[in-house]
Amino acid sequence: MKTTNTISILGSTGSIGRQTLEVAEEMELRVAAITANSSVERTEAQARKFKPALAVMTDEAAAKDLAVRLADTGTKVLGGLAALEEAATIPEADTVVTAVVGMVGLKPTLAAIGEKKRIALANKETLVCAGELVMDAADASGAEIIPVDSEHSAIFQCVQGCADRGEIKRLVLTCSGGPFYGMSYEENGSMTRADALKHPNWKMGPKITVDCATLMNKGLEVIEAMRLYRLPLEQVDVVVHRQSIVHSLVEYHDGAVLAQLGTPDMRLPIRYAMTYPKRGVSMAEPLDLLTCPPLTFALPDREAFPCLRLAEEAAKEGGTACAVLNAANEEAVKLFLEDRIGFHDIPCLVAKARECIPVTAAPSLETILEADRAGRELVWKEFE
Ligand code: NDP
Ligand code: MG
Repeated sequence: MKTTNTISILGSTGSIGRQTLEVAEEMELRVAAITANSSVERTEAQARKFKPALAVMTDEAAAKDLAVRLADTGTKVLGGLAALEEAATIPEADTVVTAVVGMVGLKPTLAAIGEKKRIALANKETLVCAGELVMDAADASGAEIIPVDSEHSAIFQCVQGCADRGEIKRLVLTCSGGPFYGMSYEENGSMTRADALKHPNWKMGPKITVDCATLMNKGLEVIEAMRLYRLPLEQVDVVVHRQSIVHSLVEYHDGAVLAQLGTPDMRLPIRYAMTYPKRGVSMAEPLDLLTCPPLTFALPDREAFPCLRLAEEAAKEGGTACAVLNAANEEAVKLFLEDRIGFHDIPCLVAKARECIPVTAAPSLETILEADRAGRELVWKEFE
């Protein structure tokens, strides 16, 4: 049944990382490497349980601490950002789960692709910033990229058997609407960090939860879908679906619309990324159509949630526009999570970065990294 036997998890202490370890345990997969930023205790516990050959902490002080704690084990400890690439290319792993948050995932993802690993891709920021480079690299090396993001996994499942992407009329991404659904722009402006962290259907890391509240998450997902399936913006739509049961849909030119449904549980797309092209058995709550709430669909409100519109505009412009958008958003969300800016400052800072930073077409990796730096710097300059 298994396609994957041994995994490396970048971001093992996060929401996706921990659920990946649950799936790994259920499927009896070996874990060759785990990585985190600074969560030493959680990483130590994971290392003791899963006995990886390598554990990486990107924070150097945390790495020193972990090395002392794991001295009696066979796990080697490395520190620093560059060590993520060691974890991503560890020879024992056939599959790399990219579950770090943010653009830091880009270089290790490219390194894993270079080694022809299967990529179970949760880290959407990587595809947003450099999707074309990543997909070209995967095509060149033959590495498979299997999306873990629930919407993209749904689409991936609905395009199985579709040999010609020209048959697809459009992709429809579903969107929960987030905790501020139904509010006007004026109303959502006073929402705080605590309000934003209450997601109605999913329990996720803080950055993506805020992105769900601003609808930037859906904007990033539109770009992610465009890159994964090499489709233009005109063929990627968004509908609000409050129940998070229909995970996304694919409409074909012959009029058929395929959707993937299920209870909201990230372990399903994580597991599918491990078993594809087969399907495993899950302990997750089954979907009961007779007792689940009525399924509703509505248009997203781009006036109340300008981040979705900003992302679509960047997607349309292409080049380095998406890298700037993403970088400015990452920094703005950090500031919001530290209670240093308000909810509306997030779209305002992103819009400012997009206005001020010129776009370069067909960028190289270096140009993308420069655009990323420029986006972050601009947010800090505006803030200070
Ligand atoms: P979390 O914040 O829960 O976890 C992030 C992980 O990345 C942690 O292991 C964290 O380590 C590590 N990390 C954080 N900052 C850095 C850094 N600078 N360098 C290296 N490692 C770092 O995030 P999620 O699991 O929610 O999300 C991970 C990715 O998956 C994101 O791109 C998100 O958009 C995507 N995703 C998440 C979903 C979900 O349900 N959570 C659904 C779909 C996509 P530490 O614990 O030490 O901070
Ligand atoms: Mg998603």
